[in-house]
Amino acid sequence: MPRLLLDLTRAELRELMTQWGQPAFRGDQIYLWLHRELVTSPMQMTNLPQDLRARLADEFIINPLEPVVSVDSRDGLTRKTLFRLPDGATIEVVLMLYESRRTVCISTQVGCGMGCTFCATGQGGLLRNLSAGEIVAQVHWFERWLRQPAGDGGLRVKRPSRLTNVVVMGMGEPLANYKALMQALRTIADPEGFALSARSITVSTVGLVPMIDRLAAEELPIRLAVSLHAPTNRLRNRLVPINRRYPLESLMAACHRYVEKTGRRISFEYALMRGVNDSAQHAELLVDLLMGLRCHVNLIPLNPIPNSPYQPSHEEDVARFQTILNAAGIPTTVRLRRGIEINAGCGQLRQAVQQPELIPLLSSR
Ligand code: SAH
Ligand code: SF4
Repeated sequence: MPRLLLDLTRAELRELMTQWGQPAFRGDQIYLWLHRELVTSPMQMTNLPQDLRARLADEFIINPLEPVVSVDSRDGLTRKTLFRLPDGATIEVVLMLYESRRTVCISTQVGCGMGCTFCATGQGGLLRNLSAGEIVAQVHWFERWLRQPAGDGGLRVKRPSRLTNVVVMGMGEPLANYKALMQALRTIADPEGFALSARSITVSTVGLVPMIDRLAAEELPIRLAVSLHAPTNRLRNRLVPINRRYPLESLMAACHRYVEKTGRRISFEYALMRGVNDSAQHAELLVDLLMGLRCHVNLIPLNPIPNSPYQPSHEEDVARFQTILNAAGIPTTVRLRRGIEINAGCGQLRQAVQQPELIPLLSSR
């Protein structure tokens, strides 16, 4: 398997150049070609000596992502792409367009080991972690696409333009792949490199308590979202099995420490499932749980997946739930998981493509 050049930090690129008998500053030049210019071949690094470019091309690849299939939402505001990695593993990446934002939703693992019972990614288990370079490459891929002058169209976006936000809410549990995640986010936020503001990056976690504390201690001011989905341990144990290891008391204590330490509020994700977690009583219990914490709640009507007993809540139950939270002073938004009709719930396109007869159907748009 060829090595991935994006896996190397700037310091490691400098070191590699020294090892190869080059001046260290060549490492800085390569870093800029990779993270500013987003070149896909070392041959495009025109300020490097020809033989160095050739050696790099011989030993490394830059873009590990091969698009397998893309699906656009009918409104032209969401594109989901399934990519194949060099070892054959597949991951999903989603581009979401808003009025003034262009957000990419990236994956951190192939599959996920957390087993949430309503999640398509969770159903297949964990195959492997992604490397830092494989995480960064997803951001680069869509940034490159946006930077091109409009051509293939399809989406309602003016090009050339730039990404404004990154959300780590694709396949996998980001905090279970902590080291690669942090290297990737530092690279994306490096003011001397890709230079996306850390404040424009959101990481969503299922609630791995020790890792939330570790994240709070980082100097990188990214935003944190916690997938809650239930206000009691009894219910959360069922929906989010990792709750048995990190029950709500310990999770909420970690959230309080996080807000205290960073001064940044937390977002909570709550997928509303009909007759499961969407009653008035559930809303009141959630209010009790979140009282006194600087936070925001995102209510997401569940995106139903095959072979699962859960259905999205009725509209009036969603509205009642929101009213109760708002009345208690908890800022709450109701957010459709974008591109519901394109299987944008994490892991669903990958699942569909494992049934090959669906591919022509999916790529028909
Ligand atoms: N593993 C992380 C991040 C990836 S999942 C986490 O769980 O937070 C991103 C979000 O999608 C999480 O809030 C997750 O609970 C939610 N999600 C997963 N399957 C869903 C579904 N079928 N419908 C709605 N939201 C879902
Ligand atoms: Fe993993 Fe998140 Fe899906 Fe749970 S919801 S199985 S943590 S990807």
